[in-house]
Amino acid sequence: MIEGLPFWIDSTVRRERAFVSHPHADHAADHETAIMSRDSTGLYSLRYRSEKILGLPWEKPAVFGKWRVTLFPSGHMLGSAQVLLEKDFRILYSGDFKLQKNAAAREIAIPETDILIMEATFGKPEFRFPPQEKVLEAMLEFIEDCFNEGVVPLFFAYSMGKAQELMVLLGKARIELRVHEHIAKAAAVYEKIGYRFGRYGVLREGERGEFAVIYPPSARRNPILSPLRARTALVSGWALKGSGPYDAGFPLSDHADYQDLIRYVEAVDPAEVYIIRGTEFLKRDLETRGYTVHLLPPPKQLSIF
Ligand SMILES: [Zn+2]
Repeated sequence: MIEGLPFWIDSTVRRERAFVSHPHADHAADHETAIMSRDSTGLYSLRYRSEKILGLPWEKPAVFGKWRVTLFPSGHMLGSAQVLLEKDFRILYSGDFKLQKNAAAREIAIPETDILIMEATFGKPEFRFPPQEKVLEAMLEFIEDCFNEGVVPLFFAYSMGKAQELMVLLGKARIELRVHEHIAKAAAVYEKIGYRFGRYGVLREGERGEFAVIYPPSARRNPILSPLRARTALVSGWALKGSGPYDAGFPLSDHADYQDLIRYVEAVDPAEVYIIRGTEFLKRDLETRGYTVHLLPPPKQLSIF
């Protein structure tokens, strides 16, 4: 909570009024009134119930009490927003963001600010994502090898955001897809807004054919998958750290990597930076670049003033 601001920001507990940067579980809850980008309302409504949803347009200031509130796309997923709060000074909250192009989200637009509150999911220098074209090339090779050997390429990706990004990329490469029903439901929301996917359907029991499958990691043990002769792959920024129980890992991320966190701060050019999920290393790195930096402990995330 920012003092004097008439709504909470990305609260994971139900509030009377809260801004939701995007409807991933670590940023949202069933608020009485939920404020978000217009593009976010469809996905939010798939997961959460609110008495009232206020969908705001991009880059058009709205007035809440003494504050001017403007949303800018953050490139993380469909509808994901940074929020700029202006009074006699400016505060920008980044939410989750991505600087590299996202095939299933609006490109990030970066405003300037005095105070930045930044999410730093990958706040260590070893997190350096390879160019996305390379990751996609490797994925397509993986798929081709699977098809040649008569096994199903089975990708695990978060059902909202990442899965649709993957659907756009693989659809463009004319790979036929079968997905989990939650992924299909979210994809239908994207389609309403104008996104197009290639050929896909919900995976049915006992289905056979030359297709790739996308399932969320949480459904890894779904019995529908057990009869598939499959080779598995994790699609996530965390794949940089290894592929865990999966046969392969592809570091296609919907977040900024370490370099991009620094680039983002330089573009926003704030006097002060508050970092959520940050590291001492990132703090010191930014300090040597002339910024005043504070690390916020996760439980007190936005109680900064
Ligand atoms: Zn997220």
